[in-house]
Amino acid sequence: MELKDSVSSIKGIGEKTQKLFEKLGVESVGELLTFYPTRYDTFSDPKPIAELKEGEDGVICGLVSRVVTPGYASRIKILTCIVTDPSGSIELVWFNQPYVKFELKSGYHFIFRGKVRLKGKKLQLEQPKIYKREDYYRLQTALQPVYPLTAGLTLNTVRKSMKQALTITGDMPEFVPLKFRKKYELLKKNHAVTEMHFPKSRETMMEARRSLVFEEFFLFMVFLRQMSLGREVKESSLVIKDNGECDDLIGKLPYELTSDQIKTFEEIKNDLTSGRVMARLIQGDVGSGKTVVAELALLMVAGSGYQGAIMAPTEVLAKQHYESMQKDMDRYGLKCCLLVGSMTAAEKKKVYSDIAEHRADIVIGTHTLFQEKLVFDKLGLCVTDEQHRFGVRQRESLSKKGISPHILVMSATPIPRTLAMMLYGDMDISRITTMPSDRQAIKNCVVGQGYRNTAYNFIRKQIEEGRQAYIICPMIDAEEDSELENVTDYTEKLKDIFGNTLRIDKLHGKMKPKEKNDVMLKFKNKEFDILISTTVIEVGIDVPNATMIIIQHADRYGLATLHQLRGRVGRGQKKSYCILVSSAKGQTAKQRLQIMTTTTDGFKIASEDLKMRGPGEFTGTLQHGFPEFKAGDIIKDVKLIEYAKQVAVDIIADDPELIAPEHTNINYLINTKYSQLSKIIQVG
Ligand code: ADP
Ligand code: MG
Repeated sequence: MELKDSVSSIKGIGEKTQKLFEKLGVESVGELLTFYPTRYDTFSDPKPIAELKEGEDGVICGLVSRVVTPGYASRIKILTCIVTDPSGSIELVWFNQPYVKFELKSGYHFIFRGKVRLKGKKLQLEQPKIYKREDYYRLQTALQPVYPLTAGLTLNTVRKSMKQALTITGDMPEFVPLKFRKKYELLKKNHAVTEMHFPKSRETMMEARRSLVFEEFFLFMVFLRQMSLGREVKESSLVIKDNGECDDLIGKLPYELTSDQIKTFEEIKNDLTSGRVMARLIQGDVGSGKTVVAELALLMVAGSGYQGAIMAPTEVLAKQHYESMQKDMDRYGLKCCLLVGSMTAAEKKKVYSDIAEHRADIVIGTHTLFQEKLVFDKLGLCVTDEQHRFGVRQRESLSKKGISPHILVMSATPIPRTLAMMLYGDMDISRITTMPSDRQAIKNCVVGQGYRNTAYNFIRKQIEEGRQAYIICPMIDAEEDSELENVTDYTEKLKDIFGNTLRIDKLHGKMKPKEKNDVMLKFKNKEFDILISTTVIEVGIDVPNATMIIIQHADRYGLATLHQLRGRVGRGQKKSYCILVSSAKGQTAKQRLQIMTTTTDGFKIASEDLKMRGPGEFTGTLQHGFPEFKAGDIIKDVKLIEYAKQVAVDIIADDPELIAPEHTNINYLINTKYSQLSKIIQVG
């Protein structure tokens, strides 16, 4: 048997079974070996007989008595016995397995594992497997693989076939060169594959998985790296210096930077002064404080005599960045300007000329404007905020506006698209995982519609304490046949309820950008208390005094969206609250929302969301070129991706053509399996 042979060369796999495997994408023995379990079963501890429940897989340990073997005349051979433990006794039954009697010995203890059924009024253990106690305890440390199946293919068949296939794992090619396997403590391929399928323990399985995931990402990275060889490591002629202004600004901030913010800024500083073009992604959860890091980078670049640009996905957000940066930059004699769609033609024209003639040092705007004819005098840095909101092209079109400016992108959402982009664009990653230390955990709850009055009272109390609140509705106006709350009616309704005691205003996508900006500014300046809005406020809005968000019909949104929405509160030192109002009847919707209350980690939420919605729902332009990883999880294993990338970078730097003997396996694979992929990626 060889890896490339059809699975039918495995004993017990005939034409029919082969077809079934084919359905699962498994044709060769080699493919079978990389058909990994989706989870593992464990052998649970034996239970007292008295605690068995109908329908479950029961495991008991007890003394055998009264073995009744079938008579020769009966058509179905039924063998029974009674097993007793201190809690009680139960009848065990086997059909057509007469040989069981040779194993069963009256007066001995065994462990039995089988389905618990109701027979008449009594429970029975049906067709149980019999284990000697010491054998069972040994099995308990091991894990039993569970594979995805298709109708007609049993778990047992897959397990048995796998066991045979595993005899040739020694033939599987090793891709990660020995040097790096040692460095990253990776298992040998054959060992890893065996452990992945039939692990001796959870620990060995994790170790095996880690090695296989690493290899998978490594190969993909080598492939990407090879494809982008031409574009890689661009020299930069920009002369950017750190002239103390950044430290000065850091000293003047009303807070201390977190260690991750400092580290990220250090990495950016290194990039900017390295003589190479920076391409860096800052990944940091909602509210982790990415903006200030970008601001420092912009200050460093502008302070060195270049221009900087920052793109935001919405006008409201651009305006917010402008408001906060302008004040800081003033101190250093640097001029910020805003460039958004709602400005008049004359205003825009003035900004264009300010940019072209370098009267403006930092431009803050929305992406649409950067697509127009915008000429910079000396563009040194482009920042893209909320990268996941943009397509790749937009980023590139902005970066074409200077002579290879440095690129910094920021994103809060670890969706595959972001990752794809990062791989594609060959970015380095900085991660901000520590939240500012002054934050208090947000209090979350999931409630039904009946919670209304309690919520109103609570809002009133918060506002009396000087706080502000958001209420999110899914619709703008009332629509026929829709019971969903809408911003317009809800605003009126609340005005009725609260009368003149509270000030209420609204925000939604149909309003003119100028109106939206005004409302946001007023809210930020505490000119009113409750903002009723659609999800337009989802991205980036920063009003630290708002401590409460109520999301109507929360069940209608993806968890990632809810996470972004919730990120609008908990931005200051005061305790914040997030109330998810669910209108769904079903249990699953509630369960999904409950995830929000168990974690505030955007990565976890995104991966839970992915699990529930299926990866297809995040389809973005780039994902078409994305291979399906067999072992790896592009969210969970992001750390391994980084390591794997580093190894790929080192290898390609040493041996760009992959001709060294230790690289021939990689070379072969990339020219065969991945060649298809390269077409897709280049087009995409
Ligand atoms: P995001 O990463 O979601 O873009 P922001 O940059 O908008 O987050 O920051 C959220 C809020 O936290 C802002 O009000 C910002 O001023 C504040 N902030 C940023 N860094 C810190 C810090 N180190 N300590 C306290 N507050 C901070
Ligand atoms: Mg932000």
